[in-house]
Amino acid sequence: MVVQVYLLKKENVIKLMALMSLLSLVVLGTRIRIISKEFGKSLTYSCSSSLRKRRALSVRLLAPSLRKLTCDCSLFYGFSFHFLVFVLAYSYLCPRNMSTVIYPSPIFGPIMSRRLGVSLGINLLPADGKWCSFDCIYCECGLNAERRATMPLPTREEVKESLEKQLQKMEQEGPKPDVLTFAGNGEPTLHPEFPAIVDDVTALRDEYFPQAKISVLSNSTQIHRESVREALLRTDNPIMKLDTISADFIEKVDRPQGRYDVDTIINYLAQMSPKVIIQTMFLTGNGLDNTTDEYVEPWLKALQTIKPRQVMIYTIDRETPVQGLQKAQPKILDEIAEKVRLLGISCSVSY
Ligand code: SF4
Repeated sequence: MVVQVYLLKKENVIKLMALMSLLSLVVLGTRIRIISKEFGKSLTYSCSSSLRKRRALSVRLLAPSLRKLTCDCSLFYGFSFHFLVFVLAYSYLCPRNMSTVIYPSPIFGPIMSRRLGVSLGINLLPADGKWCSFDCIYCECGLNAERRATMPLPTREEVKESLEKQLQKMEQEGPKPDVLTFAGNGEPTLHPEFPAIVDDVTALRDEYFPQAKISVLSNSTQIHRESVREALLRTDNPIMKLDTISADFIEKVDRPQGRYDVDTIINYLAQMSPKVIIQTMFLTGNGLDNTTDEYVEPWLKALQTIKPRQVMIYTIDRETPVQGLQKAQPKILDEIAEKVRLLGISCSVSY
C-alpha cells in the first residue's frame, strides 16, 4: 500500500506519523509519504516495512535544510523505531490533564492573583514538570506521576539573575508588583538553597520595589527544618497549607509523599506565630467534603493552637486532575470564615 498526502498543519503531520508508524507495525508492506510545509520549508517523511527484503524499516526524511536521510535497519530496530515514533507522537497529541498548568522556571508572570494582587512568581522547581512532597488531587499542576520533571532545579545564581532581569523590565515597563511569590511547580521549600534564595530575593526586592511583599505558598511539610522555618519567617507572608486535621482526609486529598503527622505540623506552625498565615482548601465531591462540622470544628481548634495572623480559605478555581471534585458553596465558605473571625483571627475568602 502506498499513500501520499499533502499536509500543512503540524498537528496533522504528527497525527499521521503516529498512524503510519502504527500501520508499519501491523501491516507489512505499508508505505506512506507525508509532504508538509510546516517543518522548515518542506518535509517529506516516508516510512515502509518489508519482510521480503528482510528489513522492517525504511525512513526517508527530506528537507531543504536537511540532507536526504535514508535508513534501513533490522527487523528488531525497525519495529522498535516505529513503536517509539508512535508513542512519542501519541503523547504529544494526547497529553493528559490538558487543564493543568506547568509554570516556567525560575520566574513567571506577573499574574493577577485572586489572593495577592499583581504577583511575580518565583518557581524554584524544574521548568518541565512538578516536584512536590504532596500530591493533592486538586493540584493545578496535575498529579505527580503524570508531571514528572526531568530537568534539574534552577540554581541560586539562575534565580537571582532571572529575577533581577525581570524586575529591571518591570521597573521600565510596569506593572509594579504587589508581591513576589514563591510558588509554581510544587513545594518551594524543597529547594536545598531555599534559605539563601529568600535572602537574595529580599535584597532584590529592597533595591527595585521596596513596597512589594514577599510571599511563600508552602504545604508546610518542610517546617521541621529549622533553616526553612527561619527563612519562611524572614518573608512577609509565609502562607502555609493546613487543609484539615483528619488523617484520613489528608491521605485521600493531600496525599503526602513521605511521613506526615498533622499534630507535629501544628506544633511547628504554632512556633511560627504570630507571623504565619494559614491557607485552607475547602472542597466537595467524590465522597469528600471538608466543609462539615466534623472537619471544621477540629480545624478551628488547631487554629486556636497555632494563633496565625490570618487565615485564607479558598476553593477550587479551575479544572482539577482528578475528576468529580466540586467547589465549596460561597455561603458555606462565608459561614466558616465567620467562625474563624469569632476566634479573633482575620480571615479572607476566595470563591
Ligand atoms: S502542595 Fe501545592 S503544589 Fe503540591 S501537590 Fe498540593 S497543590 Fe500541588
